[in-house]
Amino acid sequence: MDYFELKNGEICAEDVPLAEIAVQVGTPVYIYSRATLERHARVFREALAGIARTHLAFAVKSNPNLAVLSLLKKEGYGADVVSEGEMKRALAAGIPAADIVFSGVGKSRRELVAALDAGIGQFNLESEEEGVELADIALSKGMQAVATLRVNPDVDARTHAKISTGKADNKFGVAYGDAAEIYARLAALDGLTMRGLAVHIGSQISDLEPSRQAFLKMGELMQTLRKQGFTVTHMDLGGGLGVPYRLGEELPGPADYGAMVEEVTRDWDATIMFEPGRVITGNSGVLLTEVIRVKPGVNAPFVVVDAAMNDLARPSLYDAWHDFLAVRPTGEKMVAHIVGPICESSDTFAKNREIDTVKAGDLAIFRTAGAYGATMANTYNSRALVPEVMVDGDKWAIVADRLEPETIFAAERVPEWLD
Ligand SMILES: *Cc1c(COP(=O)(O)O)cnc(C)c1O
Repeated sequence: MDYFELKNGEICAEDVPLAEIAVQVGTPVYIYSRATLERHARVFREALAGIARTHLAFAVKSNPNLAVLSLLKKEGYGADVVSEGEMKRALAAGIPAADIVFSGVGKSRRELVAALDAGIGQFNLESEEEGVELADIALSKGMQAVATLRVNPDVDARTHAKISTGKADNKFGVAYGDAAEIYARLAALDGLTMRGLAVHIGSQISDLEPSRQAFLKMGELMQTLRKQGFTVTHMDLGGGLGVPYRLGEELPGPADYGAMVEEVTRDWDATIMFEPGRVITGNSGVLLTEVIRVKPGVNAPFVVVDAAMNDLARPSLYDAWHDFLAVRPTGEKMVAHIVGPICESSDTFAKNREIDTVKAGDLAIFRTAGAYGATMANTYNSRALVPEVMVDGDKWAIVADRLEPETIFAAERVPEWLD
């Protein structure tokens, strides 16, 4: 459920007509709804209320905007970060270091040092080598790093191949069969406190069974380690729950997920940790765009919009679907290809799609753009970096400026010897 709805014939974000934002900020622009973000954060938390001890760490990579992070901090969320930059953002938003989990398959030495210095609460180790390096750094600083071992459970999340992370041939975690021995060797290192296991099998998960299988395997591994005398107090189950991208699409929601996790983890006697991203932010944002023109095509017309693959990469990366709706629908429909202005055929949002009839100058939105939207934006074709707005009832604010090409090329230098 979200708060982007038709009111008096035009789509509003909460109580703000999108057209008002278009006039003042221009397009394309990402628009987030505070009430929707809060609602999703609360629904997810409430879905886990039956679990005795939980820790919620918002996956910053899904939407790292400081206003979004500040809001989630107020909702009691920690952060799951995968780079030093994300760590800095989480800290800048006021999220306590102790509530931050550092994930990521390639943490550099520099990042490990920075995270230790910042007092990060937990490192999710992706390899034995990383654990050895972290222990070494911690020891040299007279510190103790707290960590879990990320395990690759070898299950197929049945999602898009590019966002599947839990099969044996994916790059993430250590092999399930080696995990107990690696855990034992890491637990013996000075400078490192091993406190549990971590797993994350993929994103946009729309079938809970693979997650259930993965969590059951993690539970068995936890028991094996405990029988061998090791301490396992924390079990990080990652993120990945999917969201509906099409109006009317039915997916398992937080309540189904929570019930499944509660059932699997009932006897674990551990703090169960979660790293939700998309399920919080996905339907909390839209990308507002203006139709530049409609040009004839062989099979169907091309609706050329002023948003492009550099602003919203998911369709070009994953063939992802985003609902496209006219801000002031007339009730008429057309079949069209929706494309951006970039000089690549991959800059295509939809083909042969039945959409609201639009013409040059009309406003439209791509829905479900709050996750993996602005965060993946770039400036290809020397386009501006897309701005972001947050709405709260009848007020709104720019939460990220549009970065014009001049601002971006101000960081470039022409060496003297080219003169
Ligand atoms: C990407 C990622 C998440 C969040 O995934 P969502 O599908 O957005 O919930 C959580 N944990 C890890 C380790 C990730 O890489």
